[in-house]
Amino acid sequence: MPKQNQSWENKCALAWPVLTTMARERKTIFYKQLGEAVGIHHRSVRYVLDVIQRYCMEAGLPPLTAIVVSKSQRRPGSGFVAWDIDDLESGITLVYGEDWAAKANPFLGFGENETFETLARELINDPGASEAIYRRVKDRGIAQKIFREALIIAYDHQCAMCDLSFYDALEAAHIVPFWECSAEQKMDVCNGLLLCANHHRLFDTEWITVSADHVIQFSDPNMRDGPYSKSDIAASVGLHGTKVRCPADPKLRPKFPSRDTD
Ligand SMILES: [Zn+2]
Repeated sequence: MPKQNQSWENKCALAWPVLTTMARERKTIFYKQLGEAVGIHHRSVRYVLDVIQRYCMEAGLPPLTAIVVSKSQRRPGSGFVAWDIDDLESGITLVYGEDWAAKANPFLGFGENETFETLARELINDPGASEAIYRRVKDRGIAQKIFREALIIAYDHQCAMCDLSFYDALEAAHIVPFWECSAEQKMDVCNGLLLCANHHRLFDTEWITVSADHVIQFSDPNMRDGPYSKSDIAASVGLHGTKVRCPADPKLRPKFPSRDTD
């Protein structure tokens, strides 16, 4: 059994250059070979591949883990979901065609025992460390993942506006947008808000704004732009004038700019 606190992310940092080198040489690699290169048992290789696979899918990269195959079947194991297994050839062609050399190793920021979870907890324990962590992690996709993990802990797994708690529907929203904010703000929990996908979209498009004292403001409170369904009302005008639910810990509370200064 893999240890609870095992850092697969750190092993990903070791596996990434092995896989991208193989891809550049247009070769596949066996689970056992990869395990040896990374220093883990071949049965544990799938945990590492799972993290890399998810990263590639979220970053819109070709399915890099498709080139890791079993000796007997000459194809990826059952954990491989990044590409249609019946059309593996075209996935592998994409992997071989990608310019991996141009892309930095996204997992380099993880130390020996660090995981998405431990770095998220660091952000929670000391929001002031956000810039240092951001500068180490660098990769946007990885930074966003750690940031989301931290907000999920801070907001107790619920949308700050409607309390929806489906893990897969919860997203990390930036108050000052990612591309506009300082390095310090990019992973600062106080510059974030855990929102469901719907409220994230309504917040980003400014249908919904939040004042400096945390009051939710819907831009059409008199429902002139209707018709509104019951769900629309509950998600929008029904929240107008109420406050976002803040983390219990005061040092994690969101900081909204006052509207008259922007
Ligand atoms: Zn919501």
